[in-house]
Amino acid sequence: MSSSDRWVENLRCPQCEKTGPAELSQMDGSFDVQVDSFPEGFRVIESVHGINFYCSSCDCPVDP
Ligand SMILES: [Zn+2]
Repeated sequence: MSSSDRWVENLRCPQCEKTGPAELSQMDGSFDVQVDSFPEGFRVIESVHGINFYCSSCDCPVDP
């Protein structure tokens, strides 16, 4: 049986100050974080370095 951790990151665009909650989860024993849901107006870019969120209006990176 596997379990996973689940948490919410509150995203906030530094330019337009749009905010929204993103739901993330991580399987036990894995370093892979996956995005379960993210707020409208944001984009998710998955790279080898991890997951990055971008504001889709400003096209700028958002700090989780
Ligand atoms: Zn923005």
